[in-house]
Amino acid sequence: MDDESHRIQEFVDGIAASVAVVGRKEGELVVTACNDAFFGMSGGRRGNIRGFPVAFDLLLPSYARHELRRKLLECFETGTAQELEQAYDLKEGTHWWRLSLKPFRHSGGSAPVLEILITGLDITPKMMLTHELELSTSRFRAVVDAAYDAIITIDQQHNITLFNRAAEDLFGYESSEMIGQPILRFIPEGFRGKHDSYIHQFARSPVRSRQMNERNRIYGVHRDGSLLPVEIAISKINVGGLVEFTAIIRDIADRVRLMDLLQQQAVTDELTGLPNRREFLDVAENIMRSNEDFSVLMLDVDLFKKVNDTYGHDCGDEVLRVLAEVGRAASSKLDVFARWGGEEFVAALPEKDAEQAAAAAEKLRATFERQDFAHAWRTGRAIPFTVSIGVATRAPGESDLEALMKRADQALYRAKGNGRNRVELA
Ligand code: GH3
Ligand code: MG
Ligand code: MG
Repeated sequence: MDDESHRIQEFVDGIAASVAVVGRKEGELVVTACNDAFFGMSGGRRGNIRGFPVAFDLLLPSYARHELRRKLLECFETGTAQELEQAYDLKEGTHWWRLSLKPFRHSGGSAPVLEILITGLDITPKMMLTHELELSTSRFRAVVDAAYDAIITIDQQHNITLFNRAAEDLFGYESSEMIGQPILRFIPEGFRGKHDSYIHQFARSPVRSRQMNERNRIYGVHRDGSLLPVEIAISKINVGGLVEFTAIIRDIADRVRLMDLLQQQAVTDELTGLPNRREFLDVAENIMRSNEDFSVLMLDVDLFKKVNDTYGHDCGDEVLRVLAEVGRAASSKLDVFARWGGEEFVAALPEKDAEQAAAAAEKLRATFERQDFAHAWRTGRAIPFTVSIGVATRAPGESDLEALMKRADQALYRAKGNGRNRVELA
């Protein structure tokens, strides 16, 4: 090599890109020159070749040859530049290169010979980044879709940008139909008006995530229009100056059902289905506060022990159920008929003075005495029974329910003492 060639070779080797010039000799592809970076790219060594031109196949690993050859031939044929990305497996790992093929013609000569300049850039770091991004994206997607809770994100305009699988299950929509749609459709009509300002307020707040409405029950609207009880945690992120919101929505239908059931059980007497003593006291307190005339009655089955002894405990239970049903049916709308405990029942009678309350008690007593009600006895036979009732009416301005109940109990005691199957007034 002369000095001039040496200088050029040094220049070319100094280029960070891999460079090669490809020509054709007797119909075969040959590399007429290349730099060190090209050897580095293809895993070859300059020492392994005697000099240029060298057969194209000798410089390239077999797995890369085919594709590059095809692009080169296309470039020779069409005269247009080509590009391709290729992976080269080297000892230290795989490297990705972006190769651009630029055709040029030698000046001089009547039939210009087409040569191709290959320049390659190592794009491994970019490919690794892309790969990692893909990996974390699919990891994110997998987590989001495997989540038990519905996850919905919305953009600045409150339109949906993400709708995971649990959200599809919960609301009955496909993610594909929901992307770009306003979030409002999932919000019950009565709350829609406030929702926008609520989001704006949250956007401005320094709090980044919070539970929605800890106190009230929240509902989402299903595709079929039904309301779903849910629990919602919302959070926000700032994406290039725009705020995006994420809602994690938990379906609490089961929990709500259970809570309702427990709540119901806590206030209900199991045997009769009537309000229990605690519920009665609660409700009666309220009634007493808002009604001027107010009476209570306390009812006890006469000689109930004998019913149990004669017919058995199950028949005794049946008597209590029958009494409960008849008592409830006999009560007016405002009255509360409840089980006080054992074979004792109570009633709160709003808007009834002593006279009216006594009349109601007497009517009830007579109903039982005559067994004047239709009932399908589970025991298969009717079991006659009578009741004694004590009636107490609130004194003007009186607010002590306990004292009132006590007076009713004392009247009841007197009814028992005076021969049972009677009504006594306090
Ligand atoms: P009195 O006319 O003086 O009220 O006589 P009594 O027999 O009704 O009064 P007592 O208080 O001696 O008996 C009440 C009985 O009620 C005793 C108890 O075993 C029975 N009892 C209480 N709760 C139930 C129940 O849920 N089911 C049944 N079958 N019996 C009950
Ligand atoms: Mg009794
Ligand atoms: Mg009793």
